[in-house]
Amino acid sequence: MLQKELGLSTWEDLLLYFPYRHIDRTRLYRTTEILPEMPYVQLRGQFISMETVGAGRKKRLVAHFTDGYGWVDCVWFNGASYLLKTLKLHHDYIIFGKPTPFNGRPNLTHPDVDEAQNMMLSRMAMQPHYSVTERMRKAGLSSRSIEHFTGTLMQRLQTPLPETLPDYLMQRLGLIGRDSALRWMHYPETARQLSDATYRMKFEELFFIQLSILRYSRDRQKRVHGLRCPKVGEMFHRFYRERLPFELTGAQKRVIREMHADMASGRQMNRLVQGDVGSGKTMVALMSMLLALDNGYQACLMAPTEILANQHYETLRRQMDGLGVRVELLTGSIKGKRREEILSGLMSGDVHILIGTHALIEDGVTFAHLGLAVIDEQHRFGVEQRARLWAKSTQPPHVLVMTATPIPRTLAMTLYGDLDVSVIDELPPGRKPIATLHQFDNRRQQLNDFIRKQVNEGRQIYIVYPLIKESEKIDLKNLVEGYSQVCDDFPDLVVCQVHGQMKPALKDEQMQRFVRGEAQIMVATTVIEVGVNVPNASVMVIQNAERFGLSQLHQLRGRVGRGADQSYCILVTGFKLADDTRKRIEIMVRTNDGFEIAEADLKLRGPGDLEGTQQSGLAFELKIADLARDGQILQLARDVAERIVEEDPTCELPKYELLWRQLKNLRKTNINWSAIS
Ligand code: ADP
Ligand code: MG
Repeated sequence: MLQKELGLSTWEDLLLYFPYRHIDRTRLYRTTEILPEMPYVQLRGQFISMETVGAGRKKRLVAHFTDGYGWVDCVWFNGASYLLKTLKLHHDYIIFGKPTPFNGRPNLTHPDVDEAQNMMLSRMAMQPHYSVTERMRKAGLSSRSIEHFTGTLMQRLQTPLPETLPDYLMQRLGLIGRDSALRWMHYPETARQLSDATYRMKFEELFFIQLSILRYSRDRQKRVHGLRCPKVGEMFHRFYRERLPFELTGAQKRVIREMHADMASGRQMNRLVQGDVGSGKTMVALMSMLLALDNGYQACLMAPTEILANQHYETLRRQMDGLGVRVELLTGSIKGKRREEILSGLMSGDVHILIGTHALIEDGVTFAHLGLAVIDEQHRFGVEQRARLWAKSTQPPHVLVMTATPIPRTLAMTLYGDLDVSVIDELPPGRKPIATLHQFDNRRQQLNDFIRKQVNEGRQIYIVYPLIKESEKIDLKNLVEGYSQVCDDFPDLVVCQVHGQMKPALKDEQMQRFVRGEAQIMVATTVIEVGVNVPNASVMVIQNAERFGLSQLHQLRGRVGRGADQSYCILVTGFKLADDTRKRIEIMVRTNDGFEIAEADLKLRGPGDLEGTQQSGLAFELKIADLARDGQILQLARDVAERIVEEDPTCELPKYELLWRQLKNLRKTNINWSAIS
């Protein structure tokens, strides 16, 4: 059960299964002191009677408990027959649980029950509480059971647990030893012991991740030679002088310079470019592809969706027209003879730039001399796909990954510790901030009036519906109904529709009608979330906004505000909103700043859940550190690891031997350490 539910199969696993909180159980309450908002109460008294009530799923055992001052009811939904056999009436017990009012009397559901004479309350100032799953609870395995296991474990651990950090480091950083730390994580005697232990374990966890990243990325840098692209040649210059439709922003110029320095250095470039939606990442990618071309190499650009790949293809082909650059598009729907032509062009080197979807990394796709691979909207791709691009050429190409999901610094350091990061922190001039409004879904008329007004001014409108895998059928129905509703509401307008289930050709045709301005309204799912660029679209209506995550909302909003006109994002929700949903909506209404939103998202949801990290390979689960809160410890861990790797690049100094050994041990465990680096 422990292994299946919590992944605990050894004593060591158990040792590292830390309680999520400690509770002071020295205090006994009276039933008359109970308030509904109390997180828990502890009472001493007796059960007077028990009865089974309800039927079916509501069937439960209710035991009436009194401490002589008043009454509470204890309720169990399962395990009744066992309790009926073992609970004694008129016998002293100590009960512990969360009080909720029900039928005019406090109820404790599934309380902890102990015989009063067995409980040494005075010694329970810091009782550990462990998370258990619902299934464990049903099987009668509670936090108390785990407490029993860890308690036994502590008694059995006679010899000190092995240390993993060198003495001098612990002294300098004021860290306590690993043996005390691990014991105190479970059974501290004071709050101070608990916080010292927590700090030590958090540092250790983050430190070894950083050490691993730095150590192995250094290795790779030595092993892998970069293709040399020092020349800024004809293509780049001609494009810059004759084709560039606007002045580059300062940030775009800086990032292009950074990239050129990388590509010229003889090292292989691995750079992440972060730029908020609309900051002009595509142009940066294009200019760096030209650098590769100028030095005799090919370049490719991989996009997460067919729509986006198409759009990039159209843009680039137009901009390259007449420069003697052959640009081709490769997606899943390009087949047969056309595909053969492109593939042979790639092998002969006739195709200079290849744009595409995942189809780019399939086995049959071979380049003559790929110099630069650009991955757009990196958060949609995994580590593995990045790795496959590497293999497209005998010498790995330079890699540029672009993302609009601003990754908070702390997370970037952990996730992409081996990537250099550039930030485009400036939007092209003349952009007006998007006005974001929250509206309840019973005000359709107002919304329609607003849409009508915008259309009359010549603008275009997106209306987005959620399409979430788990509830695909219902979602699709909503979308289709929404679409016909919009058609009814605006019989004189052209409304097009795009969703993931459509055939690529149809999807593309619908999209093109919107891009060309023939359709005024686009009803779509999140397939348009990433990258799509229609500057004349000025209104983004998001239906069921409560069902989207923050970064998704921000991405969607980024589809408007790309032209000179005032743009609007309207978040439509139902009346009833959960707390964190309300917070998400408030943040969206308050700010347009992607980094602020990402930080807020990290705080609200925790990094494991952060959109974009799920797939992009947060290859490990942090046991104790919390990237949202432990930024400072992470920074410290990073600095220390950096100094060590610099001082001992070949890993042979005796004073660090312990660390390198521990790193090797860690890489043998179930965590995917190679993906981290
Ligand atoms: P994103 O960073 O979201 O991928 P895009 O590359 O799609 O953004 O650019 C958004 C829009 O801004 C495009 O229409 C693009 O042509 C335009 N753009 C990019 N750079 C500049 C610039 N320096 N000045 C004016 N417009 C720009
Ligand atoms: Mg883009």
